[in-house]
Amino acid sequence: MQSTPSKPPMLSAVEALAHLLKNASPVNEEETVPTQAALGRVLAKDIASQVDVPPLDNTSMDGYAVRSSEIKQVGTVLRMAQRIPAGSVGQSLETGTIARIFTGAPIPQGADAVVMQEDCIVQDQNELVQINSVPNAGQWIRRRGEDLTAGKLALTAGSLLRPQQLGVAASAGYAQLPVKRKVRVAAFFTGDELSLPGEPLKPGGIYNSNRDTLLGVIRSLGCEATDYGIVPDRLDATRAALRTASTNHDLIITSGGVSVGEEDHIKPAVNAEGRLDLWQIAIKPGKPLAFGAVRKQQQSDQETWFIGLPGNPVSSFVTFLLFVRPFILKLQGRSDLSSPSYLMRADFDWLKPDRRNEFLRVKINAQGGLDLFPNQSSGVLTSAAWGDGLLDCPAGQGFKKGDMVRYIPFSGLLS
Ligand code: AMP
Ligand code: MG
Repeated sequence: MQSTPSKPPMLSAVEALAHLLKNASPVNEEETVPTQAALGRVLAKDIASQVDVPPLDNTSMDGYAVRSSEIKQVGTVLRMAQRIPAGSVGQSLETGTIARIFTGAPIPQGADAVVMQEDCIVQDQNELVQINSVPNAGQWIRRRGEDLTAGKLALTAGSLLRPQQLGVAASAGYAQLPVKRKVRVAAFFTGDELSLPGEPLKPGGIYNSNRDTLLGVIRSLGCEATDYGIVPDRLDATRAALRTASTNHDLIITSGGVSVGEEDHIKPAVNAEGRLDLWQIAIKPGKPLAFGAVRKQQQSDQETWFIGLPGNPVSSFVTFLLFVRPFILKLQGRSDLSSPSYLMRADFDWLKPDRRNEFLRVKINAQGGLDLFPNQSSGVLTSAAWGDGLLDCPAGQGFKKGDMVRYIPFSGLLS
């Protein structure tokens, strides 16, 4: 891709993302971790169930295991010949008898239905039971293997291991799981105006908010994050930070300094330490984005990926979610890189759309529609803290209150 100092190429969001993803490939290393410790990791291999789940036919109700053919009418009385709590195996059901049975207990041989205890009256000190409903064969029985059968694919490689996936792995007999190693991300933040909270603000200064936002998203995505702090607006300092960050990391993320002004050193610094494309992406907030790679210090034939985000707090947050997140997911070996989105009703007019694809900070209201944060400036980070997602407004397309629009929840972008 060609770029000139004065005017980097303009790309649509789709083009920029395609270019990023085309370049990324998953980390190769895998490790085996206890299933308990695999939350938030990416499964490295397909896993097949080691057993049938459930392992045996069992009752889904507390009640009585019966032969349905012996109960032709309401009020039939039968003798209770055994008691089967969960975790024990009963005897074969003799003709003319029933078994007291509790949720999860195996159905005894010969029984073909369960009558729930609410439909039964115990007579004669638990010996005889009057059954007040006529059972259908199979009722209240959970079948062996109805969830998974032994040998069946339980989880696919590239899945994010959420609590549900860990439960499935455990039900399938896995005490350990093969996972991709964590992606290692280094971050630093450029700007002479930046101070850390806790320090006095410099004259003309502003607190470094991108550090907490961006490290937070990086960690939310299950990466190991290294914070290299604030880097002054100088070429040598930026180059030195790049060299340090390239060691032992898969990706370097920075904020600020990606425009082409005299105080913007990201482009010359990355070019000196590696290679870089600088883009203007036709989105709002956002626009400048730098993508490239830095030569690793120890092994100069190897590179660490580099993505430079704009400095404005909302711009860096939104461009991270839209572009860096899928890039990281690809490095992690995740199979689904998409940003989940839904059609929702806008409860406000948007009559003067921008020429760029705009991502508005919105919140779902109690009526199931979307409300707009009143100040959509790229420096107003409270818009993102107030909002629960982004409204994806295509370039040049306004809408009216009541129209359906595309909504991307933050919750889907933070894992
Ligand atoms: P830049 O992209 O470096 O031109 O910065 C754009 C705007 O974002 C400027 O107003 C900066 O002061 C502000 N900014 C840059 N980095 C940060 C940061 N880490 N935290 C808060 N604001 C920032
Ligand atoms: Mg700057």
